Amino acid sequence: MKNIEKKVKRTLGSNKLIKKGDRVAIAHSGGKDSSNVVFLLNKILKNNPDIKLFVITLDEGIKGYRDKAVKKSEGFCKKLKIEQYIFSFKKEFDFTVDQLSKKMKSGYCGSCGILRRYLLNKKARELKATKLATGHNLDDECQSILMNVLKGDLLRLVRVGPIPQIAGHPKFVTRIKPLITIPEDESILFGKINNIPSHPKKCPYSIDNPLRGETRKFLNSLEETSPGIKYSLYESALKIVPFVRTKFKVGKIGNCKKCGEPSSQKICKVCELLSSI
Ligand code: SF4
Ligand code: ZN
Repeated sequence: MKNIEKKVKRTLGSNKLIKKGDRVAIAHSGGKDSSNVVFLLNKILKNNPDIKLFVITLDEGIKGYRDKAVKKSEGFCKKLKIEQYIFSFKKEFDFTVDQLSKKMKSGYCGSCGILRRYLLNKKARELKATKLATGHNLDDECQSILMNVLKGDLLRLVRVGPIPQIAGHPKFVTRIKPLITIPEDESILFGKINNIPSHPKKCPYSIDNPLRGETRKFLNSLEETSPGIKYSLYESALKIVPFVRTKFKVGKIGNCKKCGEPSSQKICKVCELLSSI
């Protein structure tokens, strides 16, 4: 327990993830990693008068799955006495993912992902968040590093690290990944020992990415024979990232003509999606 807390404190401190005066929104889905990040940031920072923490939870409208996760999340935030804001797709977009799945033949998980990222950033900004913390762990990060290299998508490596680089736009809230050095199995154990409630069920609409599945298996088998290999991969990537960031500069992007949110096209993907359904 102490080791995990120490590692998170080190990530926060050495990368200056959170500074005096920051308002930190924590994205909480109710899953184990996001619950751990709420628990740990609350434990480490709750008595710091210069930092404000609060939680944002999205309700996509997935019956039997998200409704239960949101309930758990509400109970957890109440117990920790941390402020929580819940936003539903129904209210914000006038449909649920359950409804979307009936209208679209396929691709609703991808569309839901686009809507989630859009809403999370928009609401965090409206709530004057200066940082948006997510629950990415070491395994998530290593899988993404390896997959991007395997696919030759080096540009995406700019997103590696505790503060991923995204396209420059003042409306983007800076993302931070406080759990980036915590391996998945340690995260599970941490949650169990601390009795941190999390929703174990898998989203009924989630689509397995075969490359991610194989990469996960490969990294886990390497870790068994060579303990620490995931961390070494992460450290190597961190040394490469500054070069990648200079070589592949992430360009500035404009505003969507319809909703005014950041977009690389005239009309953003969300407005396109909303007008197509
Ligand atoms: Fe939405 Fe896909 Fe996540 Fe389910 S798995 S909540 S459909 S993004
Ligand atoms: Zn738009």
